[in-house]
Amino acid sequence: MITREECMVLDASDELAALRHEFTLDEHEIYLDGNSLGPLSKSVRLRVNEVLDDEWGRGLVRSWNDAGWMAAPTRLGDRIAPLIGARPGEVLVADTLTFLLAKLVGAALAQRPERHVVLTDVANFHSDIYIIRAVCARAGRPITVKTIDRNTLDSELNDDVALVELTQVDYRTGESLDMKGITAKVHDAGALMLWDFAHSAGAVPLDVTDADVDFAAGCTYKYLNSGPGGPGFLYIRESWQGILENPLPGWLGHARPFDFELDYQPAEGVQAFVTSSPSMIALAALDGALDVWDHVTMQQVRAKSLALTDLFIALVEERMPGLFDVVTPREHERRGSQVALRHSEGYGIIQALIDRGVVGDFRAPDICRFGFTPLYLRYVDVYDAVDRIAQVMASESFRDAKFAVRHAVT
Ligand SMILES: *Cc1c(COP(=O)(O)O)cnc(C)c1O
Repeated sequence: MITREECMVLDASDELAALRHEFTLDEHEIYLDGNSLGPLSKSVRLRVNEVLDDEWGRGLVRSWNDAGWMAAPTRLGDRIAPLIGARPGEVLVADTLTFLLAKLVGAALAQRPERHVVLTDVANFHSDIYIIRAVCARAGRPITVKTIDRNTLDSELNDDVALVELTQVDYRTGESLDMKGITAKVHDAGALMLWDFAHSAGAVPLDVTDADVDFAAGCTYKYLNSGPGGPGFLYIRESWQGILENPLPGWLGHARPFDFELDYQPAEGVQAFVTSSPSMIALAALDGALDVWDHVTMQQVRAKSLALTDLFIALVEERMPGLFDVVTPREHERRGSQVALRHSEGYGIIQALIDRGVVGDFRAPDICRFGFTPLYLRYVDVYDAVDRIAQVMASESFRDAKFAVRHAVT
């Protein structure tokens, strides 16, 4: 049996332990939903206040020049780059993820004009599928979007496939896909590869350079903790820059926005994928949120993430054998930073757990999802969370009618 004391020993030697104090957390609550919305950190508060009081409050319009607001999308992109294995100048912070996918899908289709198929995963996040279909429907030539079982990708790839879009860590099951192997196969078929890093950035070490990824996009409000609706980021490999065209051009992606020319001329590099004014307060929050990442390596984060998820799975199986189907892969190389437990009463279980101070979330039709974020979670939190899950299961409190009420956000 794994004991609470053993977990406390692990916490005592945890080199990331001190980072927990950077975050606003309720001591009575165990937050296992940082994969949906990361918590507030002290540095976010500081940086946002600085932008409010000094840059906007006092500097007003001068701050576009004096405070470097214009450069913020690429400066913050360069701060995210090391987290995904990108080089400086390859990452841009702008818009939100779904919009960035629209830009990248549209841009990629124009690079494979003789091809008519886009492949994506039938288990993908719905927003990805909606926007891919919408962009393809307006591509100016017939494009078939095939939502496939990703395990059949090999047999779907052929010389009519223009683009493959996959989410690197499955948002439901937490399965992490082999980015390098899949990208290589897609390239062998002459197609382009677009990765969605929504559940990967800040969760698993990524190396877009080594994997020769063409394009990627992700969000910052999940594992990167930039706050609700925080901006997204995109990655465009250097060799595509200057070739790939932004299908939604705007003045701030122009080479000389203040010349007010009517003919669009793209700026150099990823800046061409900026459409409109950067949302400076949201970018300030991201800037602050990234400070925490200056103190850790993705390898440290990964090691603790695997230890936390291993511990959670072991405790669930030890305390509640056979009660849940552990959907998340056991093999480390196939696991993201979350654990998904399948149960037909999943919705009520999550509501009953939130009532007991364990915040996870539910993903239809039957997945209880628990995110593990090494920056602020302790081993003892994992122990206590499983203890409370065991209480909910033993008491069957999840059957209470009040836990059946469906909220807009699950
Ligand atoms: C969270 C998530 C999104 C969200 O997109 P937004 O446009 O930022 O709201 C998109 N795709 C996946 C796979 C996600 O997990």
